[in-house]
Amino acid sequence: MSHPKTLFQKVWERHEVVAETADTPAVLYIDLHLIHEVTTPQAFSELRERGLRLRRTDLTLATMDHSTPTRTEQIFGNAPITIESAAQQIHALEVNCAEFGVDLLGLKSDLRGIVHVIGPELGATQPGKTIVCGDSHTSTHGAFGALAFGIGTTEVGHVFATQCLLQRKPKTMAINVKGRLRPGVTAKDLILAIIGKIGVSGGTGYVLEYRGEAISALNMDERMTVCNMSIEAGARAGMVAPDETTYAYLKGRPRAPQGADWERALAEWRALPTDAGAVFDREVELDAAEIEPMITYGTHPGMVVPISGHVPTRANDPVFDKALAYMGLTAGQAISGHPVDVVFIGSCTNSRLSDLRAAAGVLKGRKVASGVQLLIVPGSQQIKKAAEAEGLDRIFLDAGAQWRESGCSMCLGMNGDLVEKGKYSVSTSNRNFEGRQGVGARTLLASPITAAASAIRGRITDPREVL
Ligand code: SF4
Repeated sequence: MSHPKTLFQKVWERHEVVAETADTPAVLYIDLHLIHEVTTPQAFSELRERGLRLRRTDLTLATMDHSTPTRTEQIFGNAPITIESAAQQIHALEVNCAEFGVDLLGLKSDLRGIVHVIGPELGATQPGKTIVCGDSHTSTHGAFGALAFGIGTTEVGHVFATQCLLQRKPKTMAINVKGRLRPGVTAKDLILAIIGKIGVSGGTGYVLEYRGEAISALNMDERMTVCNMSIEAGARAGMVAPDETTYAYLKGRPRAPQGADWERALAEWRALPTDAGAVFDREVELDAAEIEPMITYGTHPGMVVPISGHVPTRANDPVFDKALAYMGLTAGQAISGHPVDVVFIGSCTNSRLSDLRAAAGVLKGRKVASGVQLLIVPGSQQIKKAAEAEGLDRIFLDAGAQWRESGCSMCLGMNGDLVEKGKYSVSTSNRNFEGRQGVGARTLLASPITAAASAIRGRITDPREVL
């Protein structure tokens, strides 16, 4: 038998056009390039200036998400897009995709959505593929056993022109999660606990493979939530081995293989999981049964505590002191019960149908606390339609929430959906950096059910109190 290999090694080797040397990185072939309006204008200009064509339009798919407004009247009505830079980016993507022959899910398309939501939803994200996008959270697609990672604007241009990338081969880290998550504890809590354990630079230089009983038990939405935040541990990518859950999710999706191609693909995918005896460069162990609902208190996702816990105390740590000053929190204070101004349920981490169902389960028959703004933004137009078909929108609206068109929305402050300076926002997104949701905004990352529970109480609330 050949040498046992990890999932990552198998995918890497199948795409290595030229192996790396001590002096030169490997040349890696890319199977799918997802693009959006923010990180592409410069790369398209570069192609134009050099007189190049886009090499594989059939392996390139465009959507718009970061800058797009979420108010229905601005998408489907006559209300203008008031942020000039956003309107320019949207227009530029339309022009560039038309000129270079790229398939674009445009502003009014019923298939449009957040780039890391629509790839899987359409079945374009598949096991064993190499997938890149000019966005850090491309790691999301690793949930399918793909090697997926974010790239910079210059690299977007490289992939446009060559369908290849120069890459140094990362090391491998197994995150072994035994046991089962307890009721009220979600995939978001699991990944926050993992980041809390290994730290925001614990994954630097590695591709993570999430393994074990707790991971196998997750559905695809939950696996995407976990892989999405791999980058917040500093990792190049995160992966989960494909299994029957993966295949059941993909079967019949429009861009998934069909008929005989499906059978051929399935045979290839079944050979991808890590071989018994394969060696990782590092292994980390967690017990899912010990994890509680988690929430961040600081200005990076590693500053995280169980919701029943307290803001920690650290001596002689200026970064920690600065984070607490920004957040307006005090070392040693209980995190639960702190007042909340805004709650955001959305982003490529937690905007899928199962996230919305979970939030609706908490909100049904209840009202958002007075003075709290609850914004719920589906990850794609397809999810919006499915949620409305189930009546989730009515539950949200009856509770006093705002229900919007899909997009990145309050995940980042560039499309008009903003948290005001000094306000506390419980958010299901993935980054709580200073200013991420708006200048001076104070972001606490949590799961959709923690967010929904906090919205109805008007203060940070353990979801198990209301489930
Ligand atoms: S939701 Fe946030 S993290 Fe995800 S693609 Fe949009 S901006 Fe990036």
